[in-house]
Amino acid sequence: TRLPVRRALLSVSDKTGLIDLGRALAAHGAELLSTGGSARALREAGLTVKDVSEHTGFPEILDGRVKTLVPQVHGGILGRRDLPAHLSQMEEHGIAPIDLVCVNLYPFAATVASGAGDEDCIENIDIGGPAMIRAAAKNFGHVAILTSPEQYGDFVKSLETGGTYLSERREYAGAAYAHTASYDGMISRWFAERAGELLPPVLTLSGSRDELLRYGENPHQKAAFYRDGSTRAGIATARQVQGKALSYNNLNDTDAAFEAVAEFDAPTVVIVKHANPCGVASASTLEDAWIAALRCDPVSAFGGIVAVNRTLDAATAQRISSIFTEVIVAPDADERAIEILSRKKNLRLLLTGGMPDPTAEGLAFRSVAGGFLAQSRDAGRVTEQDLKVVTKRAPTAQEMKDLLFAFRVAKHVKSNAVIYVRDNATVGVGAGQMSRVDSARIAARKSEDAAEVAGETAPLTKGSVAASDAFFPFADGLESVVAAGAVAVIQPGGSIRDQEVIDAADAAGIAMVFTGMRHFRH
Ligand code: 5GP
Repeated sequence: TRLPVRRALLSVSDKTGLIDLGRALAAHGAELLSTGGSARALREAGLTVKDVSEHTGFPEILDGRVKTLVPQVHGGILGRRDLPAHLSQMEEHGIAPIDLVCVNLYPFAATVASGAGDEDCIENIDIGGPAMIRAAAKNFGHVAILTSPEQYGDFVKSLETGGTYLSERREYAGAAYAHTASYDGMISRWFAERAGELLPPVLTLSGSRDELLRYGENPHQKAAFYRDGSTRAGIATARQVQGKALSYNNLNDTDAAFEAVAEFDAPTVVIVKHANPCGVASASTLEDAWIAALRCDPVSAFGGIVAVNRTLDAATAQRISSIFTEVIVAPDADERAIEILSRKKNLRLLLTGGMPDPTAEGLAFRSVAGGFLAQSRDAGRVTEQDLKVVTKRAPTAQEMKDLLFAFRVAKHVKSNAVIYVRDNATVGVGAGQMSRVDSARIAARKSEDAAEVAGETAPLTKGSVAASDAFFPFADGLESVVAAGAVAVIQPGGSIRDQEVIDAADAAGIAMVFTGMRHFRH
């Protein structure tokens, strides 16, 4: 059976679509109840509206803090129409049933974002609104609850054909609780922030579904992208200019690539496969950076995700489009570049409108059985001043530049990570191995392959510098890096066998620096 609307209560801060909704309701004979500003807006549009205060015989008081928090309103929303006892009590107390509640809340987030003072923010914590929303949602058997102007169109269609079905009202109810939950989530995060707490005792994650993805990491998994309201430049701010729909893996890899490329100031290209960089290079132009990044591992780069930290130009776009690429992400692209890429129909081009600050605070999450882990994002970064030279030989100026570059890349490679760099470009990336020695060897072997592709006789790691995301627990890892041809090494240090490792470096005549900071990434 369908539910028509005889009486509706409209109390909204965002007045988008309110008049049209009011008109449709009036046309179907509904009585309109409303609060201060909403009532005014409806009246100005020529609609007949009854103030809630008139309906209840109780004025709006305390600067609007108490407008609808009265039994006539909440009884009218919560009373069950299928229970004679409820109906007779409502009658006894002069409570008229309310069949539709349309409420959206004081703009708390916008008030905070505007830089308003505490008092203003607190005044924008809506009290009566959430109470009505939760009440109406609880009584979805008999009441419809609308919390967003996006729902009005469908609702009016139902109204015109006889009223809402129970299944529709159940859906509105679910959305309503999500609305109040995310609202309270914002408020609790604001309190936590005011108290300087990055990790409050209770953490509610809230996000609104942006799109259903075709599937998850694998085709038998379901997935969606949820936005949490953050304005950090990246996949959440990206405009997709062209290409097929983005998949779960695309989004994950694109995020990894863009976060990595944001680490660098000079024109830089990062190529990612399976969330690991397989080529990173800085140069004086993006085009040169692309050439150098691709040289690191041209085999893996096939079907990769490419991130750049500058407006994408035509020359670079031309180069990238010469190999099969899944996604290109850039802060912007010039017209010629967009035109060149438009010839590759399947290639996805994302423009984020800016670069994120890699040192900005934030939280990162991961799910585990029974809950989730939260930590501050790895915003750590070492500079030359933080480094301690531990070997007899100190790095040369170019080696020092490459060491810092390599360590910054290491932060974005899954552990155990060993990265070889020469002239601001990776020449070998060893990722995700259970032993550091294996990561060192794999990177070196891939570099030999890359040298062969490039037509060079020596592996690209010869004369390179190497970074390790965490300390070498034994000398063997260091020896393997030396065997690959590295002449300088950067690593956190801090192992009980540091001295063994330093001795091995001195014996090989290479330079080594300690960062004191580790960049595990799992
Ligand atoms: P209006 O613009 O109609 O004056 O106010 C609409 C806003 O008031 C809505 O966002 C609604 O959630 C909120 N609201 C309705 N009743 C109450 C109440 O009793 N207390 C508070 N604090 N807010 C209310």
